[in-house]
Amino acid sequence: MHLKSLTLRGFKSFASATTLRFEPGVTAVVGPNGSGKSNVVDAIAWVLGEQGAKALRGGKMQDVIFAGTAGRPPLGRAEVTLTIDNTDSALPIDYTEVSITRRMFREGTSEYEINGEQVRLLDVQELLSDSGIGREMHVIVGQGQLDAVLQARPEDRRGFIEEAAGVLKHRKRKEKALRK
Ligand code: ATP
Ligand code: MG
Repeated sequence: MHLKSLTLRGFKSFASATTLRFEPGVTAVVGPNGSGKSNVVDAIAWVLGEQGAKALRGGKMQDVIFAGTAGRPPLGRAEVTLTIDNTDSALPIDYTEVSITRRMFREGTSEYEINGEQVRLLDVQELLSDSGIGREMHVIVGQGQLDAVLQARPEDRRGFIEEAAGVLKHRKRKEKALRK
């Protein structure tokens, strides 16, 4: 499983439709301060169902909608589509390519789609739940968070790594089974 592409429309500083394509392996996004690098990462967290405005570096959820600039009026909605290569069937769905879309309007309502079909947030969460890319997983390490990982106590650091590797859920299941 790997990310294939990300399309942003009206999301934060990306007023016009912008598509980023990713190849397998490592992708680096480079640019000057304030050019929108972190906004790209925010878009990935958002489309995967992030519900916290703070995690998206905003005050309220609607802050992800393009707020306008001197030469361009604000927009009424934000939309992000993430396309994932699923040829290894890591996601439990019968498609080799999976597109997840989230759309939000100024009044604050969100819509979700999986491969163009309207679904609930719960369906997106369920699709991702065993893949290791669900929300609250340490798959996105934010600016400054690296320090926290480096300075953590060894057992906490081990927890971060186990969670990212998908081991933690198995250990928790084992501990639960042993308690019975
Ligand atoms: P750095 O190198 O400093 O980390 P960066 O490339 O990560 O910078 P971002 O934080 O992604 O930069 O982008 C910040 C820019 O996005 C700011 O100019 C900010 O005004 C703009 N921005 C954020 N939200 C919106 C919005 N809703 N509408 C328009 N522009 C926005
Ligand atoms: Mg940044």
